[in-house]
Amino acid sequence: MKIIHEPQELQRYLKEQNKTIGYVPTMGALHEGHIELIKNARKNNELVVVSIFVNPTQFLKGEDLDNYPRRDEADKKICELAGVDVIFFPTKENIYFEDEVKIEAPEVRGYVLEGATRPGHFSGVLRIVMKLLNIVKPTRAYFGKKDAQQLNLIQLMVKHYYMDIEIIPINTVREADGLARSSRNVYLSVDERKEALKISASLYAASKMISKKEFDVQTIKDEMLKILTPLKIGYVEVVNREFEPINTVEVGNTIILVEAVVGKTRLLDNIWL
Ligand code: AMP
Repeated sequence: MKIIHEPQELQRYLKEQNKTIGYVPTMGALHEGHIELIKNARKNNELVVVSIFVNPTQFLKGEDLDNYPRRDEADKKICELAGVDVIFFPTKENIYFEDEVKIEAPEVRGYVLEGATRPGHFSGVLRIVMKLLNIVKPTRAYFGKKDAQQLNLIQLMVKHYYMDIEIIPINTVREADGLARSSRNVYLSVDERKEALKISASLYAASKMISKKEFDVQTIKDEMLKILTPLKIGYVEVVNREFEPINTVEVGNTIILVEAVVGKTRLLDNIWL
């Protein structure tokens, strides 16, 4: 497994290989969710590239940039075991320029839900993902459905900027008790972790209601809010695959999303129906 820090060196290396590339961008502190993305990349591509970079431009002031878990050595071992060919570890200094040309999140879809509680977050995400995709030039890039809005915006960016890359969405990997795997779960105390289960429980309850033919969004949301109480709720929202709010669930075209704060930790989860 190769470890590369410089963007130009990675570009040179990948060009020489002339192989199909499966790419998994991450912020490190790798867990089963990331491993699932890597496994999918391994199955369908000749070369697998993982990047690890805690991207400062997607953190707002006062967020957890400085405390975000960093586990480079453990991450290297995980990648080695998962059959990764190259880990790319850029730095803020070697990947960003002074006064650079920026890409912006779309005015509406980038500023609802996660974008409403974290204005500007998605501009930072798209800025780094655009760079990373241009450096790696993957055949296929793998993203988790757990970050559903991020996935949607990346799909839009690839479409709007005519980028010749296949974006592959991967299902959310959960702990045995239902909690969605997240690098931020390490922030949770034992009691907070129990409280956090209310998030997946609310989504399971919604899914059960829908399987019993309850399609009214307000009725579903009311039930979810009861289960989520007393967590601090960022949003409970029901949207279609284009991320437009809907009043009636349409099976095959619905995503239910929750953002809640447990202790000081902001957790996201969703279910695709
Ligand atoms: P992150 O390191 O949190 O930026 O995540 C890197 C990639 O892993 C993103 O595409 C995430 O959506 C994906 N991911 C994170 N958690 C999970 C999970 N529990 N299941 C599947 N994919 C995940």
